[in-house]
Amino acid sequence: MNKKLRTYFRVLGIYFRVIPGTAAVTLVNYIIQGLFPAFTALILSRLFDTAGGIADGDNDAPELLIFGLIYLAAYILNSFCSFLAGVVMETGADKNQVNYRYEICRKFAKLPLIDFENSGLKDKHRRAEQCLYQGTMNQVTQSGFRVVIVGIVGIITVSAVLARYSLLFLPLCVLSVLPYCAARLIRGEQFYQTVSAQAKKTRKMQYLWGLFTDRRTNKELRTFGADDYVLEQWRIARDETQAEIWEQSRKDAVSFALCDVFRIAGYGACIALALWLTLNGTVSVGVFGACIAAFMSLQSQTMSILVNGGSLPSHLAFAADYFEFIDLPDEKPGGNEYKGLHNQIELKNISFKYPNVEEYALKNVSFTINKGEKIAILGENGSGKTTLTKLLLGLLSAAEGAVLYDGENVNSLDKTSFHKTVSAVPQNFVRYNLPLRENVAISDVNSLNDDAGIRNSLRNAGIAELPDSAGLDAELGNAYGGSDISGGQWQKIAIARGLFRSSRLIVLDEPTSALDPLIETEILSKFIELSQDKTAVIISHRVGLCKLVDRIAVMKNGTLAEIGSHEELMSKHGEYAKLYSAQEKWYL
Ligand code: ADP
Repeated sequence: MNKKLRTYFRVLGIYFRVIPGTAAVTLVNYIIQGLFPAFTALILSRLFDTAGGIADGDNDAPELLIFGLIYLAAYILNSFCSFLAGVVMETGADKNQVNYRYEICRKFAKLPLIDFENSGLKDKHRRAEQCLYQGTMNQVTQSGFRVVIVGIVGIITVSAVLARYSLLFLPLCVLSVLPYCAARLIRGEQFYQTVSAQAKKTRKMQYLWGLFTDRRTNKELRTFGADDYVLEQWRIARDETQAEIWEQSRKDAVSFALCDVFRIAGYGACIALALWLTLNGTVSVGVFGACIAAFMSLQSQTMSILVNGGSLPSHLAFAADYFEFIDLPDEKPGGNEYKGLHNQIELKNISFKYPNVEEYALKNVSFTINKGEKIAILGENGSGKTTLTKLLLGLLSAAEGAVLYDGENVNSLDKTSFHKTVSAVPQNFVRYNLPLRENVAISDVNSLNDDAGIRNSLRNAGIAELPDSAGLDAELGNAYGGSDISGGQWQKIAIARGLFRSSRLIVLDEPTSALDPLIETEILSKFIELSQDKTAVIISHRVGLCKLVDRIAVMKNGTLAEIGSHEELMSKHGEYAKLYSAQEKWYL
């Protein structure tokens, strides 16, 4: 099946599934709207002829009154239905929109983490958001309904009425509004192309805007005096995108003005035809009036159908972008249930490249980590330490080689049971604008009320005193009126979070880099003492902790330069010994 047609039925299916009540009301409303013009034409011709008959003395007033009342009742019913359906449709549209938005959040929760390293994902997400921002899904259903229901019911019935008097009305009507369809098809496609091509630019604009609205970046920009420069960049990006959109709007206006000229000419031709039919005695004066009214209805129905039909392809193109994002494959579920480390983790000839990057971030790395061992991974910035831990935790998968837990590839383990046994404090840990309690216990939400455990973890991470009298319920961060704390305190809270989760393997990725080297060593020695029965991997570019751990793996340019205990590596006089003697003075 054609992609657009598939998208159309998918949107329609979701509409009926998510808001079946609204869908039913919408259907009935459109059927009534479709029938109304033909009905009006018939009643009006009777009304005009009856009125004419009264003037000639052939009919009496009650008959006129009956037709008048029928016409009025139909008019009121039609108006009431449109009003009611409008209210129902608007509420339903909101619910429908919320459902589509929820699916975006759900997709983000399920995507493989490697996808986040790819900027293509951001563009796809941006286009999916654009589709929702424009209300495309509701436009697809409404346009579709108008075309199919109002089209079938309306055009067939009105055409049947008009064809009784002259078949010429039909081509006249269709031809006079056909340009609208062509205009919508062409303009819609051009609008879609423009907006799609703008996805990257729009994202950049939002990013630049975010630099101003974020407290920290705003402060830095002002300190560097770069605020005007960034504002100018944002303005340039905005002007470029706006100019493209305005150009589209200008072309829209011109094409619609031309279409209007055609439509009015068609209406003039209809009056001429109806007049000619009346003058040569083919139709009565009443039918003459009804023909003009029916032609107007038919013209506006046909126009609405052609405009909606013409808009559908571009709406469907936007909708297809949404589904392209939603259909991205989720992280593979399942795998073998993981029961915890028994023996050792083996990193076997691991190589890894980030998407769209030529160089390897890791090249042929091999070593083992024994159960209960404390290992430091040392190396300069960019040497591959963080990438290594992401592979170790199964957050990324190695292109070549494998990470084996007791001989089993981490990628074939069931992620849920695996993640239950591990804990991590990442380099870019999150500063949750939530109470202190949640900031710590978010690593184990089932233990949110374990005050003693939370306090213990905080103490072990170097926070003896709680920030204020609210204790664990003190709001952190200033997003909701909480108190902001220093970078070092945030780091300690992140460590407490990692410690709070009971795990068999814990990975610390430079969580203490914002702290003084001596305080860092103090916290890490406490951490190692507490992790007696755990396997721990601690990343650092400082050597302070190295005497405390069992072994040190030194990374250089994505490769493992050397591995061994402090004494072994010092006696080798290699990379480690160089780093150690350069930093030794910090720890005196
Ligand atoms: P370290 O933790 O030692 O500072 P990383 O593991 O973060 O090093 O980075 C290793 C290499 O991979 C670096 O060259 C870095 O630029 C690159 N890299 C890291 N993250 C990404 C990413 N998301 N996309 C592309 N390249 C990346």
